[in-house]
Amino acid sequence: MHTKLLSTLLALGLFMTSYIDAAQVKTNIKKQSFGKTTDETPVDLYILTNRTGAEAAITNYGGIVVWLKVPDRKGKLGDVVLGYDSLDGYINDKAYLGALIGRYGNRIGHGKFTLDGLTYTLPQNNGENTLHGGIKGFNKQVWQAEEMPNPNGVALRLHYLSKDGEEGFPGNLSVQVLYTWTNQNELKIEYSAASDKTTVLNLTQHSYFNLAGAGNGNVLQHQLTLHSDRFTAIDSALIPTGEIRGVQRTPFDFRTPVAMGARIDDNDQQLKYGLGYDHNWVLESGKSDAPLLAAQVYEPQSGRTLEAWTTEPGIQFYSGNFLDGIRGKAGKIYHRRDAFCLETQHYPDSPNHPNFPSTVLKPGEHYHSITIYKFSVQ
Ligand code: BGC
Repeated sequence: MHTKLLSTLLALGLFMTSYIDAAQVKTNIKKQSFGKTTDETPVDLYILTNRTGAEAAITNYGGIVVWLKVPDRKGKLGDVVLGYDSLDGYINDKAYLGALIGRYGNRIGHGKFTLDGLTYTLPQNNGENTLHGGIKGFNKQVWQAEEMPNPNGVALRLHYLSKDGEEGFPGNLSVQVLYTWTNQNELKIEYSAASDKTTVLNLTQHSYFNLAGAGNGNVLQHQLTLHSDRFTAIDSALIPTGEIRGVQRTPFDFRTPVAMGARIDDNDQQLKYGLGYDHNWVLESGKSDAPLLAAQVYEPQSGRTLEAWTTEPGIQFYSGNFLDGIRGKAGKIYHRRDAFCLETQHYPDSPNHPNFPSTVLKPGEHYHSITIYKFSVQ
C-alpha cells in the first residue's frame, strides 16, 4: 500500500478511536436514597457508571453490590449478581447476597479462638460455629461512604468503625473498603484496616455471580478454572480438618477449565459434606503484594467471562448449594446452584489452625488486601 495512503488511514484510525472515546459515556456516580434501616438510619445507593456504560451499584448498607451490569458477547448489558430490589430484602437476607463480610469471612469452629492466652467466645450463628462475622456482621452495618476521584473509572470509599468486643472480637477496628469500577469493567476491592488490640481479621466480598444473568437458571454449565493444586479438607460441619489436600484425581481439580456441574454430584465425601462445592482452595497469591490470577469463569451462552485476581492466600468456591428459593430482583427466584461465589480470603477457621497463614492483626500493623473481579467476553 502507498505509504502516504497508509499514514492517512492510520491518522484517520487514531482520529476515529478518539472520536469513539469522546462519544462514550462520561464516568459518573449517581447517589440516591435506598431507604432506612429499622432504626431509621438513612442508607444510599451509589450507581457507578464507567466510560463504557457498564454499571456497578453499591449501597453503604453492608457495602453490598446490588447490581453489576456488564456486556455479553453482543454488547448487551446484563446484571450478573444476585440481589434484592429494596433495602428490606438485604435487611432480612440470610444468604449474604453481594455483601462485605467481616470481621471473619467463613467459619470459626465452635465460635471460639485463643489469642495471647485469652479465649474469645463468638455468637454461634451456624450450628455451633460462627459464620461470616456473627449475628450482625459487617454485612448488616451502615458504612460511611465517600465518592472518590479516580483517573481510570469511578470509585467509592466505605469506612466502618467496629467497636472493641463487637460480635465477640477484640479491638477497636477501623476498616476501609475502596471499591473502584474501572473503565475495563473491573471491580477492584481494596481493604485496609487497623486495630488498637491484637485481633483476628479476614475480610471478603460475598457477591453471587451468574454470568448468564441473575435469575437465569443454574450455573452448572459455567466453565471454571482455579489456579490451585490444593484445598483445605473439611468435616461434616464445613470446618477445616487442618489437612491440605491435593486436587489431583479428585472433583476438586479445576486446573484446566471444567463445567461447575460436571462432577458436583460425584460420590465424594468432601462434596457430600459441602452439598456441592463449598471449599477453600489454596493460592500462591499470599506471597505476593500484587494481585495474582486465582480463577476464571466462562459462560458459553452469553460469552461472558470473569477473572478473579487477589493478594489473598485462599479462595472459597461456593456453588450456591444453600440457595433455597429466595425471591430476588425483579421477582426472580434463586434456586439451589443458581449462582456461584468466589470469595477471596484467608482460610476458614485459621485462628484455630497454626499451620494456616495467620489472620492475626496486631496494633500498629496495617491490614491490606486487594481483589479484582474482571469482566470480559470470549
Ligand atoms: C459459605 C457457605 C455459606 C454461604 C452463605 C459461603 O461463604 O462457605 O457455606 O452457606 O457462604 O452463607
